[in-house]
Amino acid sequence: MLSKSEKAFLKAQTFLAGGVNSPVRAFRGMETSPVFIRKGNGAVITDIDNNNYIDYCLSWGALILGHAPQAVVDAVNEVLHEGTSFGAPTERETELAMLISKCMPSIERIRFVNSGTEAVMSAIRLARAYTEKKIIVKFDGCYHGHADHLLVSAGSGVSSLHGASSAGVPDEFIQLTVSIPYNNKQTVEEVFRKYKNRIAAIIVEPVPANMGVIIPDREFLLFLREITTINHSLLIFDEVITGFRIGLGGAQEYFGIKPDLTTLGKIIGGGFPVGAYGGKQDIMKLLAPDGQVYQAGTLSGNPIAMAAGIATIDQLKEPGKYDALEEKTRSFISILLEICRNKGIQVNAFGSMFTLFFSDTPVTDFETAKKCDVKRFAAFHKQLLYQHIYFPPSQFETNFLSFAHTHREIEETINSIKSLLS
Ligand SMILES: *Cc1c(COP(=O)(O)O)cnc(C)c1O
Repeated sequence: MLSKSEKAFLKAQTFLAGGVNSPVRAFRGMETSPVFIRKGNGAVITDIDNNNYIDYCLSWGALILGHAPQAVVDAVNEVLHEGTSFGAPTERETELAMLISKCMPSIERIRFVNSGTEAVMSAIRLARAYTEKKIIVKFDGCYHGHADHLLVSAGSGVSSLHGASSAGVPDEFIQLTVSIPYNNKQTVEEVFRKYKNRIAAIIVEPVPANMGVIIPDREFLLFLREITTINHSLLIFDEVITGFRIGLGGAQEYFGIKPDLTTLGKIIGGGFPVGAYGGKQDIMKLLAPDGQVYQAGTLSGNPIAMAAGIATIDQLKEPGKYDALEEKTRSFISILLEICRNKGIQVNAFGSMFTLFFSDTPVTDFETAKKCDVKRFAAFHKQLLYQHIYFPPSQFETNFLSFAHTHREIEETINSIKSLLS
């Protein structure tokens, strides 16, 4: 007999393309069909068959406070009754902007958009205008949203497609994008030699988390800062995941590196569709209406999304918040390392993010990640799901912990993983 989720998925496939609105949600390559979610509370999601799962996907990292946190629910409730969109300025936009730039001083001016994709797309347009150069350098396995010119050796859902890129993206559109291996200084140098004076920007996930978590190298990031400065190119940190995940100041604070532009998303929307990009006023002033770089949005700075973002960051600002999260993750990870030892599984972890790579050898970049045994991962994923633990349905994604995960839930997770791997 089919479960309600299985029936719902069949029905969805007759109306929605592929049955989903984002490919990885379809559980392709996994051994089960997707569970349809009815509600979430804290670290737990409930599907339409009334199964509960401890959630380590958390809307792909957006829900650092867990599902339906009271503070966010209250804030949204309050705004909801006062109108949901005006297409005119509201004070909440300035308030969220202030909160963010206090946490990330490199962001002198910010612009809100509706997704991470939009944020990156616009930041790149701006970088090209500012430098009057055309080429964008990115790293293999890093994902920066689905804009045409960034779908080159991209991570996340794209890495489970067969080609490197996407159909429907003409070669001409990606001729100005150069994708090279992460953590490899020599290739970066070669690229700067080859495309002398033509590189507008390097964009990087300062902690790559879209091919699974890859451990970053501060030296490498410092080197990127230096080589872009010397060559009058911009350094863009794509902190859509790491912003407000690795502390209030994101990866840039953690590593002590000031990018020229930063892109944000996920957490800053508190579970609503928000993206943002920002940086030096000198660069941001090129944006219309001050400058000649066009970028606009009907729902940008949406009052509900802004309220959710403000409420989220207010919670995160409580002293000791991140220390507690990291401590919780640290002990979890140390046990995971113990369990996975000699089992052909690599545990990569950074802050409150981790990936279990089904690989005998360390996973340090896209090349090594691609060697993982995705079939073994799929089998593991299914077993976990049966034990009521929800991991993102792909080997190349990151698991997240939230403030809502309790010690009991973590212990339950550990016991399940232990029993599955023994
Ligand atoms: C999720 C993500 C994006 C894209 O954001 P969307 O809101 O899904 O468009 C861009 N960059 C990084 C690093 C991401 O993790």
